[in-house]
Amino acid sequence: MANPKRRTSHSRQGKRRSHHALTASATTTCSNCGAIARPHRVCSSCGWYGGKQVAAVEEE
Ligand SMILES: [Zn+2]
Repeated sequence: MANPKRRTSHSRQGKRRSHHALTASATTTCSNCGAIARPHRVCSSCGWYGGKQVAAVEEE
């Protein structure tokens, strides 16, 4: 069975985890309804993309 020869020091553990931070996703506002939307994606609230309606809006 594979087994570590040395335990990971707190310093090395911290250096490894220095790359683990998450960044907030980019947001834009929809040009049709003004809702917060992700860039280069169809608007989830009105189905708008590229200046026209491209998807049906789901309603309950
Ligand atoms: Zn929209």
